[in-house]
Parts: sequence; C-alpha cells; structure tokens
Amino acid sequence: MVLKNITRALKNIRKPRVTRMYPEIRSELPERFRGLQKLDKSKCIGCGICANTCPNCAIKIVRARVSKDSTKTRWFPEIDVGHCLFCGLCIDQCPQDALSSSKIYTDGIITWKHEDLLFTPDQLAREEPIDAPEAEQ
Ligand code: SF4
Ligand code: SF4
Repeated sequence: MVLKNITRALKNIRKPRVTRMYPEIRSELPERFRGLQKLDKSKCIGCGICANTCPNCAIKIVRARVSKDSTKTRWFPEIDVGHCLFCGLCIDQCPQDALSSSKIYTDGIITWKHEDLLFTPDQLAREEPIDAPEAEQ
C-alpha cells in the first residue's frame, strides 16, 4: 500500500498542480451561482413575501433607514445567513425584484459566531461594509 502510494506520487510529480491556493486564486463561478443576497432598498416595499416564502424562516422584516443618509425608516428584510439555504426562493418570489444574488460566498460569511451572520438591511444593501472583495456584488 505504501509502495503503491509512493509510485503514484512519483508518477504525478511532473503533472501540473490541481489544487489551488484559496483565497489568492478564486474559482470562476457559474452565472447562476447563488451567494449572499443583495437588497435594493429603493425597490423594496416591505411586503414580507420574502419572509413568508423562506422555507427556513431565515428572514425577518425589520425597520431600517430608507437610505444611508436618511433618518426616515421603513420595513425591509433582514436575513440570518446562518439559517439560509441559498435556495433563492425569496429572490424568485419578490414582486419588486428588490432582492438578487451576489457572488459572495465566503468573505464576511465565514465566521465562528452565529450573530455575525445576521445581515441587516443596511448590510444587504451594501450600505454597511461586509468585508467582501470576492466578486462583483
Ligand atoms: S425584498 Fe421583496 S418580497 Fe421582501 S419585503 Fe422587500 S419587496 Fe417584499
Ligand atoms: S435563499 Fe432561501 S433559505 Fe435563504 S433566505 Fe432566501 S428563501 Fe430563505
């Protein structure tokens, strides 16, 4: 068994590397990849359809600022990404096309603490940084 493994390693020694260094070298993602949701606050009407659709109850409708520079508040979705299945149903069911998928799937999402996975409307709208240089948001 040991000899067999050594022979295999020697045979493959000159072949090009198949492993990649992450995050320096990032995988190309398919067009339909579903990553962290993005919220367009200007389109969202706070109807709650996304929250009612979510099979994992990952969405809550909460009050948040209408925009970064406004003091006015309205209802928007807040997503607990720790419970999200990335099924995309909330995006499909939104009557206003206010939710979309981004290509973000690690930065800002991989953490030891569940509370860090609660994405507020401001974070979903990218008005607050989420530390995500992965791809176009
Ligand atoms: S994101 Fe869409 S479905 Fe969810 S509350 Fe806003 S408008 Fe309604
Ligand atoms: S992608 Fe699916 S699981 Fe995640 S918040 Fe939307 S409906 Fe819920």
